Amino acid sequence: MKKVPIRMCLSCKERKEKKSLIRIVRTPQGVLEVDPTGKKAGRGAYVCPSRECVNRLDRRNLSFAFRIEVSDKDVSLLREVLFAHLGKDKGGLE
Ligand SMILES: [Zn+2]
Repeated sequence: MKKVPIRMCLSCKERKEKKSLIRIVRTPQGVLEVDPTGKKAGRGAYVCPSRECVNRLDRRNLSFAFRIEVSDKDVSLLREVLFAHLGKDKGGLE
């Protein structure tokens, strides 16, 4: 029997298979980045690959997840990258 790693979405708090979520990582420089490989070093958190969940990311849940003070600018930058990522994966889903 194989154990499937489960992670929680930052937005909807649902637990899902790790590979079905998008990983966000905090680099050692304190920058939040999307990590499509899931292999970058740093504190990670996860979000569903859905516009709804990405839209619901905010300073509060990101600051809490990454233990840093996240600015509004950081949030909008991160959302942009996540949306770009979603667009690539699920073209035409909009
Ligand atoms: Zn979610």
